[in-house]
Amino acid sequence: MPLHLVTDHPAVWGPEPGAGPAVRAAWDALRTVMDPEIPVLSVVDLGMIRAVEVADGGRLRVAVSPTYSGCPATGIITLEVTRALNMAGFHDAEVTTAVFPPWTTDWISEEGRARLAESGIAPPPRGAGKRALVAPDETVACPHCGSTETELVSAFGSTACKALHRCRSCLEPFDSFKCI
Ligand SMILES: [Zn+2]
Repeated sequence: MPLHLVTDHPAVWGPEPGAGPAVRAAWDALRTVMDPEIPVLSVVDLGMIRAVEVADGGRLRVAVSPTYSGCPATGIITLEVTRALNMAGFHDAEVTTAVFPPWTTDWISEEGRARLAESGIAPPPRGAGKRALVAPDETVACPHCGSTETELVSAFGSTACKALHRCRSCLEPFDSFKCI
């Protein structure tokens, strides 16, 4: 039985209406798995969880999309997902990787975007796709004061997935999420 993958990104990730208790419990467990690079975001907020199903034999199956291919965190995330499911009682969960369609920063949930901004990281612009990587001087709004008078200080921020900027209005430095 092939996994039914989500291929369009909803604003809120979670169980479909009418999902059974096992699927709901699995989503709850997945919400506790935080991204090692951006600890304010769970793998659910990031839109990395593309399918949660109970197979015919009762085994839980989860499909995870890798985010930035350059990030060393992807392997760790698969392990953390398996561990969280295990702790929630899904001892034989099958965790697979779904690479198509590829993850983009557009898949980050509205809640995730709000949490990024709250923690001082500029959320990626919607629809930026891969464009922003080849146009690093694209305007990034300051998460502290909202000013667009910002400058790129370094293509590498506190982690490889973020870039460091500085606001010319409030003079605060901030990280932005690099778009892929
Ligand atoms: Zn500012």
